[in-house]
Amino acid sequence: MKVLAVNAGSSSLKYQLIDSDTTEVLAKGLCERIGIDGHLIAKRGGDTYYHEAPMPTHKEAIEAVFASLTSPEEGVVSSLASIDACGHRVAHGGSFKSSVLVTDETMAEMESLIELAPLHNGPEVTCIKICQELMGADKPQVAAFDTSFHQTMPAEAYSYAVPAEYVKNDRIRRYGFHGTSHRFVAARAAEMMGKPLSDLKIVTCHLGNGSSVTAVDGGKSVDTSMGFTPGAGLPMGTRCGDIDPFIVTHLMNKHNLSASDANSILNKKSGVLAVSGVSSDFRDIEAEADRGNADCQLALDMFAYGVKKLIGAYAAAMGGVDAIVFTAGVGENDGRVREAACKGLEFLGVDFDSEVNAGARGKDTVISKPGSRVQVMVIPTNEELMIVNDVVAIASGKTL
Ligand code: ADP
Repeated sequence: MKVLAVNAGSSSLKYQLIDSDTTEVLAKGLCERIGIDGHLIAKRGGDTYYHEAPMPTHKEAIEAVFASLTSPEEGVVSSLASIDACGHRVAHGGSFKSSVLVTDETMAEMESLIELAPLHNGPEVTCIKICQELMGADKPQVAAFDTSFHQTMPAEAYSYAVPAEYVKNDRIRRYGFHGTSHRFVAARAAEMMGKPLSDLKIVTCHLGNGSSVTAVDGGKSVDTSMGFTPGAGLPMGTRCGDIDPFIVTHLMNKHNLSASDANSILNKKSGVLAVSGVSSDFRDIEAEADRGNADCQLALDMFAYGVKKLIGAYAAAMGGVDAIVFTAGVGENDGRVREAACKGLEFLGVDFDSEVNAGARGKDTVISKPGSRVQVMVIPTNEELMIVNDVVAIASGKTL
């Protein structure tokens, strides 16, 4: 099957057209500045095509993507009819336990979730409707949620100690995010270890611009560091991660901040950007730390310490750990963060290989020494392929 994987943000849209039989990426690209002016960067093989196109809404963005995919010069299919199905990344899946076929019923449920993640779910639901309209009702549209992998967490891991009326009426609980990525790398780790996933206790560290760590016990998420929103857990590029909640009310009172001011400070002006005072990008922070900038070093130390604490906590939660996996922009590329996060974990059975780690970048690599009781690995994530696999399974009538 030829499946289009769509990942819509508030002003951007990434896509990949994948042949599910060969897993080949036939074409991929990115629309940016939707709602402002708009352009599409489309890639096919080694070629890149750039299109300026007005994109007042996501509809024009998707039309530009379809035009590129079917164009005689840069396209990879003769017409839209050759695209068999579409898989959409949806950030918040509420109580959905797996990816689902979009029907009137599942669409209504997704619409009700917009209030929990307006910036993400709003544009994602819009894109699903546009694809339904442009591709025709007979083409399956599938929603793959960032949260659904974490629906297996036990109540003691997902509950917050707040009044029951909020839990019930406002759906306040830990949901967790990046589930598609955690699920993909845990399965790949088991494959690399040559053991059934059901026998393994794995801590998966998705460290990127947004970061989360998950305890995967027997293939199921049993705890994860993001919470009701993707702002919880580790300090991230610009998100604060876990802080004492009363800091927020204290600052709101003292500086007369609105809820939206507080939101913007904690989401966009915090994290390693705030601590380093330099950048949200780990490459910039490391370069400045090397020049002796103590704030940059503190940002790196806080981040690695946070990852290490979560690994320890999740080993305790699972009663052991067989593997630790690093993935996403920082996890796949940044040996320094990986080494700092694993330093001192010898007591857990980690025998880290600093030399192999230093050279490991962007490909499947074991970065612990042979014989280490806990295997430490770098595994590039592939959320699009995971989504495509779910689309194929659902389109062929399998229950996930
Ligand atoms: P997103 O959460 O937006 O999907 P990614 O997983 O792509 O983010 O991660 C992006 C981040 O990865 C960048 O902000 C940068 O901090 C980090 N990164 C990418 N390449 C490197 C590298 N070579 N060394 C250190 N950090 C890197």
